[in-house]
Amino acid sequence: MASSAIACSTPFIKKEDVGLSAFSSQSSFSMRNATKSVSRKIVSVMAPQQSERKPATTGSVKTAMTMTEKILARSSEKPHLSPGENVWVNVDVLMTHDVCGPGSIGIFKKEFGQNAKVWDREKLVIIPDHYIFTTDERANRNVDILRDFCMEQNIKYFYDIKDLGDFKANPDYKGVCHIALAQEGHCRPGEVLLGTDSHTCTAGAFGQFATGIGNTDAGFVLGTGKLLLKVPPTLRFVMDGEMPDYLLAKDLILQIIGEISMSGATYKAMEFVGSTVESLTMEERMTLCNMVVEAGGKNGVVPADSTTYKYLEDKTSIPYEAVYSDEQARFLSEYRFDISKLEPLVAKPHSPDNRALARECKDVKIDRVYIGSCTGGKTEDFLAAAKVFLASGGKKVKVPTFLVPATQKVWMDVYSLPVPGSGGKTCSQIFEEAGCDTPASPSCGACLGGPRDTYARMNEPQASYTYFLLEHKLTDHGKNRSFMK
Ligand code: SF4
Repeated sequence: MASSAIACSTPFIKKEDVGLSAFSSQSSFSMRNATKSVSRKIVSVMAPQQSERKPATTGSVKTAMTMTEKILARSSEKPHLSPGENVWVNVDVLMTHDVCGPGSIGIFKKEFGQNAKVWDREKLVIIPDHYIFTTDERANRNVDILRDFCMEQNIKYFYDIKDLGDFKANPDYKGVCHIALAQEGHCRPGEVLLGTDSHTCTAGAFGQFATGIGNTDAGFVLGTGKLLLKVPPTLRFVMDGEMPDYLLAKDLILQIIGEISMSGATYKAMEFVGSTVESLTMEERMTLCNMVVEAGGKNGVVPADSTTYKYLEDKTSIPYEAVYSDEQARFLSEYRFDISKLEPLVAKPHSPDNRALARECKDVKIDRVYIGSCTGGKTEDFLAAAKVFLASGGKKVKVPTFLVPATQKVWMDVYSLPVPGSGGKTCSQIFEEAGCDTPASPSCGACLGGPRDTYARMNEPQASYTYFLLEHKLTDHGKNRSFMK
């Protein structure tokens, strides 16, 4: 992405340059690792800024807490919580999809009885999205199981698809669950959202506690509405500075994961604050939180603000109450970044922390390009891609370029929203002129591999390939983690 136009970055620096002694003694980093990995992007590590803080809304709390601790305290009806405590949490929303839903339902029925009812028919959200546009009978059967269960339980929020030949004939159908949850108003500040998918952390963008759980846990939540959770300690990431227009939130999170490593936030909350974060749109905040799990994070969270409230205005009428970290809240570590100096980044195979500058990879051969997924298939991701084509001055793609909008709404935006600076052209027009494939039906597409007839699935080995704006894989979930921006 226009990497050649970007100024040079700086090499790694010594510990005295960044005040590493200020790292908390509880930090999981060894000094050796920290010295190796900290770059000039961290300009200092210091106490949280206090001028921008908003008042706590959990009035009964006497001891300072982070916003993650506060959300869990409120949902477990405790006045105070500390990291490491195990608490029974009341779940506000449980999401499941066609891959994990049938298994979760099976566990629920086995443990609670064939005639058991879910704890709350209005708090369960079921979104078929993974293996949808396929003739694979087992994949189709998974969606049928969801449909039967939703009818049996009178589930309020089931985003069904029956006509696989034309997704537009299914007005209820949405697409990728994490984006659909936000677009349909299921992400609300201060709440607890659990989902049978590791990227459920995406919803932390709304100032809520959101994390992925397994089928067994989901089966238990279906029957009780509760789950035993350990309170995570919080890492705080302060990002300040004006973000150059050639960067996206994907660059920010790749920078962070490159700094702290794939295990750097294992079972920790990642709280994102600072003027750069405040300037991000909701979709960009979702990208930021989406990838905390790539660093092992339990959840990611962005304090709700006017951007959040504006986004939610026409999406939910359910009352919610945001919470914010107290001024004296304890963070395990705090990292500061000057985003104005950041360059476009990529994550090279086979790990999201294998960070490199995009311009360092200009000689890497690319076999195919895939724009899609919950990380990179949102409206703003397609607008960004269209702007790259515009800036190229009419160049054609040289490799197959696949486009998979995350949801039905994104698909419509791709076909209807004018791209700024294009004279009124839509993304779809620009993509067509550049020789890209026609935008596919919205779903996870080839992100999780899927059955062999999945659109854009890579069914034969290729020497090298890339995912544009995507952090996942085309054949094997977790195996072909070939990461490019
Ligand atoms: S788009 Fe990919 S990462 Fe996101 S939920 Fe679907 S399979 Fe998982």
